[in-house]
Amino acid sequence: MTTRLDAVREADVVVLGAGAAGLSVALGLGGRRVDLLAKGPLGRTGNSPWAQGGIAGAVGPGDSPALHAADTLAVAGELASPAAVARLTAEGPERLAQLLALGARFDRDPSGQLDLAREAAHSRARVLHARDATGAEVVRALGASLGARSGLSVFERAFALELVRDGGRVAGVLARHADGAVVLHRARAVVLATGGIGQVFARTTNPPEATGDGLALAWRAGARLADLEFVQFHPTALDVGADPMPLLTEALRGAGATLVDEAGQRILADAGPQAELLPRDVVARALWSALASGRRALLDAREAVGEAFPDRFPTVFEACRQHGLDPRLEPIPVAPAAHYHMGGVDVDLEGRTSVPGLWAAGEVACTGVHGANRLASNSLLEALVFGARVARSVVEALPQLRRPDHALELPCVASARDDEAAAAAVAGIRRVMWEKVGLVRTGEGLREAMAALEAAEESIPPGAAEARNRATVARLVATAALARPESRGAHFRADHPLAETAWRRRILLMPEGGVPRLETEPVAAPPAAREAYA
Ligand SMILES: Cc1cc2nc3c(=O)[nH]c(=O)nc-3n(C[C@H](O)[C@H](O)[C@H](O)COP(=O)(O)OP(=O)(O)OC[C@H]3O[C@@H](n4cnc5c(N)ncnc54)[C@H](O)[C@@H]3O)c2cc1C
Repeated sequence: MTTRLDAVREADVVVLGAGAAGLSVALGLGGRRVDLLAKGPLGRTGNSPWAQGGIAGAVGPGDSPALHAADTLAVAGELASPAAVARLTAEGPERLAQLLALGARFDRDPSGQLDLAREAAHSRARVLHARDATGAEVVRALGASLGARSGLSVFERAFALELVRDGGRVAGVLARHADGAVVLHRARAVVLATGGIGQVFARTTNPPEATGDGLALAWRAGARLADLEFVQFHPTALDVGADPMPLLTEALRGAGATLVDEAGQRILADAGPQAELLPRDVVARALWSALASGRRALLDAREAVGEAFPDRFPTVFEACRQHGLDPRLEPIPVAPAAHYHMGGVDVDLEGRTSVPGLWAAGEVACTGVHGANRLASNSLLEALVFGARVARSVVEALPQLRRPDHALELPCVASARDDEAAAAAVAGIRRVMWEKVGLVRTGEGLREAMAALEAAEESIPPGAAEARNRATVARLVATAALARPESRGAHFRADHPLAETAWRRRILLMPEGGVPRLETEPVAAPPAAREAYA
């Protein structure tokens, strides 16, 4: 089978994804010939425009990058990279200042100062927000600043099918454009900024595009993946049968909303003073247990937010109203849902993957800043900070990256086909992932999941590219979860409920003949004192 091309384009850099990460990369590549591809319309595709609560940064009085770093490491299950966390927290304020200079409008107090919120496991109020639609404002500001920048070509509704290799390095992308044309984008460098994997699970807060395409593309191109077993489950998604499940931002609990059962009893009554503001995995598992024991879980914001709800949390209020609920008057039903992937394509501090010519930024990448669990509101920041670092790294590398002067050998792509067989396989994969690779895992369940996922993968027709990507990602996440016989951060094994010192190691997966080869790697010791980050 050969791939029939409808067009060939030449660019310096191809950026896959137009969320906070992809747009940040494009911004930093000013002046270069950049092809920017996204699965949906610019400003409305991927997780970024859905981000509600905010973006963290040590910009308030009494705060510092050292404190922000300490909080980030404290929830990360001893697996975060101190070096990556130091970059994130030290460069964060500069990136936020740039965003403000680009015209981002964040909420301010009556004196005109940024109104900083405090979210779970943050020791300071440090979360900038645009009411509860922060991501949309970030994407708007970044997108507007790109405007009609010379050298930038944007392809909306363009689906990246495969990375194209030239010998040992990535030299382009095969994509199906909105009109159905299959286009080869030749490039000296390719940046993956394709976002998360929430849609691999039956219950998720992530939009339909979050199918893990970038991870699957990187895997087929030979890249090393890391920390795949760590998926964050958000405790409070609106439990009304919608797919995706509308998110109820953590800022609601920050504002004092409580989690109660149908009798009005606090679900986290015995959890200590932090209660609702404990790390997400702890709160999510408490809700999971309550639901599993037949109780209901409700978020009660009547007293804490009350009549201010429509003004302070318009996105959440609208979602509730669409489902006939009024959070001013009644507690609203909640349940955990797959929300964020800490793992991803293994990258260094400049976003370089293990494959020359390929960089990654944002949720698809694993920089090591989150370890086994992510601190709330750190992911938009990561997209900005590491997006800018990737852009700098690519600009530096471009002079050494020669344009191939020969025809590239193309991977085979089948004609587009998303039929009933693919839809059925996807539904099965999502169910298995939720039930057996979700919040509470066991060795037996994971082995059953692996068998079911392999069978589902085989039933997917070759042209169903997105379904195939989901199947690949699901299998790899289950493989990593099975390989970690302990509980750490967001990865909870009921058959190994404690963290094991010997497993203070990262799990890396390498493709070898299409089969995952597994390696583990120790993590650098965390610094003894906060001063180490100063
Ligand atoms: C409901 C919700 C609320 C959240 N709230 C917060 C918050 O308050 N604070 C915070 O820090 N984080 C939050 N997050 C997480 C945060 O939004 C994401 O981690 C972050 O936006 C990821 O940015 P990104 O640019 O890496 O990916 P995304 O924004 O997901 O963008 C991915 C891009 O890749 C494109 N793409 C994917 N596959 C392909 C393909 N095959 N071909 C071409 N293009 C492709 C998509 O179209 C999209 O443009 C939230 C997430 C959700 C879902």
